[in-house]
Amino acid sequence: MRIDVITLFPDFVRQSAAVGVVGRAQQRKLLQVETWNPRDFTDDPHRTVDHRTFGGGPGMVLLIEPLRRTLQAVREVEAGPAHVVYLSPQGARLTQDRVSRLAAMPRLTLLCGRYEGVDERLLTHEVDEEISIGDYVLSGGELAAAVMIDAIGRLQDGALNDAQSAQQDSFSDGLLDCPHYSRPVQDAFGDVPAVLLSGDHAAIRRWRLKQALGRTWLRRPDLLARRSLDKESRALLDE
Ligand code: SAM
Repeated sequence: MRIDVITLFPDFVRQSAAVGVVGRAQQRKLLQVETWNPRDFTDDPHRTVDHRTFGGGPGMVLLIEPLRRTLQAVREVEAGPAHVVYLSPQGARLTQDRVSRLAAMPRLTLLCGRYEGVDERLLTHEVDEEISIGDYVLSGGELAAAVMIDAIGRLQDGALNDAQSAQQDSFSDGLLDCPHYSRPVQDAFGDVPAVLLSGDHAAIRRWRLKQALGRTWLRRPDLLARRSLDKESRALLDE
């Protein structure tokens, strides 16, 4: 998969995509992250990309023309259609379902705003969807782009050393993940639950499902309202 990021701070995006699972996915050629700076698509000596907002008030707005040219250049790269996402606090909330849908695309373009945002006309004509990473306002779209690249990158086939781990993570089956334990078995903070040491795989699966259901009930009951148990989980709980 290829992700093109349009940003005034390309170094930040490149550096954040160079580490951990996403960095490894890039090394393994499962993911390619490229950055484009709209300042490179300006004509004036000051490389102007923003101007005051019409109607008065504080703040600057990212101009149409440098972004239009940047998007044109991104589209000219022969890597398939570039689905364009504008990172915005006004967008649809990023969820694991949205991440999975975007991760299945061959190509994605992320547009990072700054200042008061982007001229509305550019958004209307060039953007396919707007996505928010939460109900708070960041000073720029770069952190949101980094979040999306990470969440999408780890879902690329072969990015995680154990493919099963993404399937067991929170949200992938509509529930929060169960708790995890490692060495030592006994500690001043408590013991590892005995069932996890029993070697009884059916009992372990049942315990994990119950824990996941309990946690989701306590912490995110809204998720339970949207989920019905699959056949295997129902059978496991009936045992
Ligand atoms: N005036 C805008 C508003 O109130 O909707 C906020 C602009 S914000 C200061 C600058 C840029 O940060 C936005 O254009 C967007 O790209 C990015 N941004 C801020 N909060 C975000 C969020 N929650 N999710 C995704 N992007 C965000």
